Amino acid sequence: MRHLLIRSLLALIGFTQAGIRCVAAEPLTVVTDFEGASVRDVEIDQTTRTISCMPGGDPLRGWPCWWYFRVNGVTSGETITVRLRGSTATVQKPGSQPQKPLAAAWAMPAQATFSTDGQVWQHTAKGQRQDESIVYTIKPDATSVFVAWGPPYTPTTAATFVRQMSEKSPHAKALELCRSRGNRPVPMLHVQEGERTKEQRFAVWVQARQHAWESGSSWVAQGFGEWLLSDNPDAAWLRQHAEIYIVPIMDIDNTATGNGGKDAQPQDHNRDWSPQPHWNEIIAAQRMVSGLIEEGRMDVFLDLHNPSPDDPTFFYALQPELLKEPMIGLRDRFIELAYSRISKIKPLIPMSNKPKLIGANYHPLWRQISSHWVCLNGNPHTVSLCLETIWNYQNSTTDGYRAVGANLAAAVREYLAERPLRK
Ligand SMILES: [Zn+2]
Repeated sequence: MRHLLIRSLLALIGFTQAGIRCVAAEPLTVVTDFEGASVRDVEIDQTTRTISCMPGGDPLRGWPCWWYFRVNGVTSGETITVRLRGSTATVQKPGSQPQKPLAAAWAMPAQATFSTDGQVWQHTAKGQRQDESIVYTIKPDATSVFVAWGPPYTPTTAATFVRQMSEKSPHAKALELCRSRGNRPVPMLHVQEGERTKEQRFAVWVQARQHAWESGSSWVAQGFGEWLLSDNPDAAWLRQHAEIYIVPIMDIDNTATGNGGKDAQPQDHNRDWSPQPHWNEIIAAQRMVSGLIEEGRMDVFLDLHNPSPDDPTFFYALQPELLKEPMIGLRDRFIELAYSRISKIKPLIPMSNKPKLIGANYHPLWRQISSHWVCLNGNPHTVSLCLETIWNYQNSTTDGYRAVGANLAAAVREYLAERPLRK
């Protein structure tokens, strides 16, 4: 018995009966057999424990800047290195010839994101630029680690969030916006409380992720919903005076398959708000929003995104020449309220108080951008905006994004409380 115990102890610390041997590390492997994964051209140096790679994704299905994979074979506590290059795939705008690779900066956050359980996501230390690559080091205390461009938010995350909210609150319903072209359900949360009729309620529509790579925008949508169903009395006011629709992921297929979505063929989701949309999500959302417009109560429409690598948080809005009052004044009031809250978030989320104004020359399909379509087809009092939340920043984490969503929701409450109540 004693002999056996000593033998097992020796085996544990790397001895065998034949003598001392080195405890060789397991080989590192890269796994992508899960929702939202994306990587290509993987090379692994087992000696330096370095994974070289670039974002995967089919460029015909959007910008190849999203990357997300799992590393197995890690020795807990060791430092592994990820050396990431920009995708070499050429990208093309719908309707034009292939052009050139996407600028690598879109794929290269200053800090990458990792998780050992797929639930809690944290930033790596700052990556180091080396030639065409950025090099991140990670020291996970586990034998397996997920590594990604930013905190992933998959169709399963959306479905879980919507279901949990509906279980937590009698005022929340888990609905399905539609089935995608890939036959995936598109989860939607519907919230309202109390006896007010539909006609007496403001309508609020919040959607994220028309561009699949912009995972942070879904976390903003989730933060909006969490605040809305919290015990905060202002949240209760909003539930009682409005009905609110939240769609955390619009482009569910590209989110599931790890494609970028932006400028996808034949039509970017956010250029698809035409009289005949191509994507099922846009057909369904446009139909529901049109119904709210017909009822004269499309009060606040918010389309959530992540911007360019160097941008702070900001709103996109149409130039005033393209709109009429009272839309312009109401919109500016809403921006003022949202800015005064979001810019005070601790820790800091940098935000510009000046919206970027878009004119008719922004894009040939500018009328088919969702927030513009809602302005152009909405009620005179409709506030319709795109919010771009900073992603390349130390506080662009799940908590930071959710704080933006919570403050955006509080701004909607404050804004609607200034509006005449519907009888
Ligand atoms: Zn976008």
